[in-house]
Amino acid sequence: MTSAATLPRSVTVRVPAKVNLELRVGPRRADGFHALSTIYMAVGLFDEVTVAPSAEWEVTISGPYAEQVPTDATNLAVVAARTLAEEVGVHEPVSLRIHKEIPVAGGMAGGSADAAAALVACDHLWSSGMAREELVQLAAGLGSDVPFALSGGIAMGSGRGEALAPVLARGTFHWVFAVSQTGLSTPAVYAECDRLRSNAPIAAPEPSSQMMTALRSGDAEAVGRALSNDLQDAAVSLQPGLRDVLDAGLEFGALGGIVSGSGPTVAFLTASPEMALDLCVSLTASGVAGEVRRAKAPVHGAQVIPGPSRV
Ligand code: ATP
Repeated sequence: MTSAATLPRSVTVRVPAKVNLELRVGPRRADGFHALSTIYMAVGLFDEVTVAPSAEWEVTISGPYAEQVPTDATNLAVVAARTLAEEVGVHEPVSLRIHKEIPVAGGMAGGSADAAAALVACDHLWSSGMAREELVQLAAGLGSDVPFALSGGIAMGSGRGEALAPVLARGTFHWVFAVSQTGLSTPAVYAECDRLRSNAPIAAPEPSSQMMTALRSGDAEAVGRALSNDLQDAAVSLQPGLRDVLDAGLEFGALGGIVSGSGPTVAFLTASPEMALDLCVSLTASGVAGEVRRAKAPVHGAQVIPGPSRV
């Protein structure tokens, strides 16, 4: 650990949302989680988490989705910070300020992103000296998507999504996200998926060679064709309006469209920044999507950003 005189007064970390290009859901495991095979891509919609020493543990939220996020000890960023504190023997509380730009309960792993950001920020604030591998292990204990929020880029996830492996990929991708006004609970979507598939045999999930080839060549059209999500039918079953959103995006020229993770955000891949802007305008004008966002991908995982925090 560094001496108190040299410790920073506050640390801000920027962390991205994710989209699953492919999400294959296998059987439910003995521990209640489903076996997954997924390809994650980190997309340029960012939350910022600032931590600073404080008299007591507290969390404040700003940004467009602030009122949907808990400000008590259940906030995933607080859970992460307290877990790290216990792990490294820090007894002084911190305040956390979260500037939230990632849609909440939208299948973009915003809560997991904040947990990853809090880990990186507190690790830096306390100069805790944890090895990267230890931080990744702590992240996996906090949630299946938290290790990917640390790494960013593009990665394959197995196990319950927490075991990451690199993917050979090239190119920049241009996404449009149609954000639903009502969130979907991840456990509810998995339960609906189980219900819809209750009579079908379920194979162990594996990545598709089609997606791997598309990513290796950086071919956005091929990636668009290969998008697939085993949770999509369940999300559409719970929010039937998502079908209209998917149809509209494809009709307006998207290369592919998919429910993001457990939804209900719908992600559309487009051919260029200009096409992404056109699609945003068309989706908004048609009235089918309430809120639309654009983002470039892939981007880095959780990173300390220099200078004074914005919040
Ligand atoms: P995933 O894709 O990982 O299943 P999600 O994107 O669908 O997650 P989140 O935005 O992570 O969903 O939020 C899920 C729930 O977690 C929210 O309804 C909220 O009550 C709770 N939550 C706790 N902490 C946070 C946080 N820091 N940010 C967002 N939600 C949080």
